[in-house]
Amino acid sequence: MEKYWNIFTSSFSDYGNYLWREMLHPSWGNYFYWLLGLSLFFWLLEVILPWRKGQPVIRQDFWLDGFYMFFNFFLFSLVGFNAISNIGVEAFNDFLGLFGIQNLIAFEIQSWPVWAQLLTLFVLRDFIQWNVHRLLHRSDFLWRFHKVHHSVQQMGFAAHLRFHWGETVVYRTLEYIPLAMIGFGIQDFFLVHIFATAIGHFNHSNLHIPLGPLRYLFNNPQMHIWHHAKRMPHRYGANYGISLSVWDYLFGTAYMPQDGRDIELGFEEVEQYPKSFFEQQVYPFRERAVVDDQLVESEKERETIPEA
Ligand SMILES: [Zn+2]
Ligand SMILES: [Zn+2]
Repeated sequence: MEKYWNIFTSSFSDYGNYLWREMLHPSWGNYFYWLLGLSLFFWLLEVILPWRKGQPVIRQDFWLDGFYMFFNFFLFSLVGFNAISNIGVEAFNDFLGLFGIQNLIAFEIQSWPVWAQLLTLFVLRDFIQWNVHRLLHRSDFLWRFHKVHHSVQQMGFAAHLRFHWGETVVYRTLEYIPLAMIGFGIQDFFLVHIFATAIGHFNHSNLHIPLGPLRYLFNNPQMHIWHHAKRMPHRYGANYGISLSVWDYLFGTAYMPQDGRDIELGFEEVEQYPKSFFEQQVYPFRERAVVDDQLVESEKERETIPEA
């Protein structure tokens, strides 16, 4: 037990030190400055080449999303996820050890050239995420958390990282085993993570940069905006692609009926959805209760209706 406690406390201080070092030392291997640089880059492009020309440069919820970016990219790892996941990984390895298993590596790809390893990691991880994203829409429980991301009503690059921290837990947990099977750990993600962050910013940006035939491979703003459409033809939505759009074309979930530049975004009654960071963090835990109360109310009503 003491081992786990040590991992827990050192995770906080290690990550705190790491974040502090990152902020003080700009370099090419630095997440903090990459996020800052990518954000400034896409924001500038939005100012120069806006798709929706009437959209303010500081759009609705710009600062809220800016805070989400910092929170989800750094703080959440700092205040908890890092510690929890280190313990989870250690406990999982101990569990495997009970059966005499050293690790989960099933396919040895460490001997491949680096580019082939990174490409495999990128494609495999994106496919896993495409599936997790579909799950977030299909499960009523998970959808309550994913709604935070869909509460965006005016789209811009920073909306990319507006999501509930619960999503990080779901994605990381479900990614862990398949990626561990090919011998990848979280520390191998840097290049792939930066590349995916750039595409994610791009998907959500107020830009129209035609990709030509590459649009069938890479996700883009013209496609992803339909994922955020307030009214979808299918109950569970469409265009689940994270970095790659190809999965949606392959599995028949692509949907772009027309130019989506000015479509309404969100979901039914998005106008009533909480607007502040804190409320959005607690709402998914309370929403069920609200719905249950309403159910109870309607049950009562039904009981009091006199039989004709
Ligand atoms: Zn979604
Ligand atoms: Zn999105």
